Amino acid sequence: MSQRYAAQGGGRVRNGMEYRKLGRTDLEVSVVGFGASPLGDVFRRTDPLEGQLAVHRAIDEGINFFDVSPYYGLTLAEERLGAALDGRRKEVILATKCGRYGLDDFDFSAGRVTQSLDESLNRLRTDYIDLFQAHDVEFGDVQQVIDETIPEMRRLQEQGKARFIGITGYPLKTLIRIAEAVPVDSILTYCRYNLMINDMDTVLMPVAHKHGIGVINASGLHMGILTDQGSPDWHPAPQKVRDAGKQAAAFCRQQGVDLSRIALRYCFDHPGVASTLVGMSNRSHVTENLDAFRSQVSLELVKRVSAILAPVFNYVWPSGRQENQDSSRS
Ligand code: NAD
Repeated sequence: MSQRYAAQGGGRVRNGMEYRKLGRTDLEVSVVGFGASPLGDVFRRTDPLEGQLAVHRAIDEGINFFDVSPYYGLTLAEERLGAALDGRRKEVILATKCGRYGLDDFDFSAGRVTQSLDESLNRLRTDYIDLFQAHDVEFGDVQQVIDETIPEMRRLQEQGKARFIGITGYPLKTLIRIAEAVPVDSILTYCRYNLMINDMDTVLMPVAHKHGIGVINASGLHMGILTDQGSPDWHPAPQKVRDAGKQAAAFCRQQGVDLSRIALRYCFDHPGVASTLVGMSNRSHVTENLDAFRSQVSLELVKRVSAILAPVFNYVWPSGRQENQDSSRS
């Protein structure tokens, strides 16, 4: 059993939502976070009006943490989120990113970081970002991220354009290397803690705890694998991992429960994670995921689903430059 770390400052409950401090920042983020990548049609085409209503429902129901990036839908997600937040900006904690602009388009230089933030502010219709993050750092030159990207982001923080700064990515090794070399306020990692994997808990959490860094867990649904609909074609996991997800979904259907509910409940229960980001673009998913947060799931069911997923548990795929990757398991 791994050691569990509590979020810095503990959680506060208000109107059925829990808010946790993000590391040593003064941001109190909702445990259920709104991942805005689906607003950029990253998983499938979505209805912009429905997306806007989903954002409004989320805010009305107490979700205050929204995460986006210029990369999602090649600026479409930021545009749509900015439109949805018009008039409601002050009600939310807004996170966006810099450094990634396309599938193979990365630029972590100081000049691009500054330009990127100004562009994001424009699209998001605001004059500050609460959390500005270097996006998918494993695709960059890590030394540049340490020596140039992060210091430039701190400069922008001093100017008041960003309140706090963080890093995001997949390989834990690289995230840890950067966080140990230069202070960061938060680390966002994805597909590293959910029913399919737990190394965020065992590998990243002790380091984040030691340095007082806030942890954001993204993709509790393993980017769609742990849903009835399944994963998009571009998903990096091999077929056997996707098939295990399908088997788990079929088992849950037989039991009359939704796999995504079990998966998210499991993530929300980690006490050291400030917020779990779930990708959402419609009102029914917002409601279902809030229901998942507010309800309990039987431990027996979690055990049975975990047994189905056990043969592919802790599978890690390659991501980023060769030297920045975690060793993968096939
Ligand atoms: P996810 O695991 O949250 O899965 C999203 C998919 O699940 C979408 O297709 C969505 O429509 C679907 N979904 C959501 N709720 C559902 C429900 N109740 N029932 C069935 N399907 C449901 O994956 P994600 O969107 O990639 O991750 C969440 C967010 O985390 C992203 O939107 C993004 O903001 C952030 N993120 C950041 C990084 C990074 O910075 N490198 C990487 C991955 C994710």
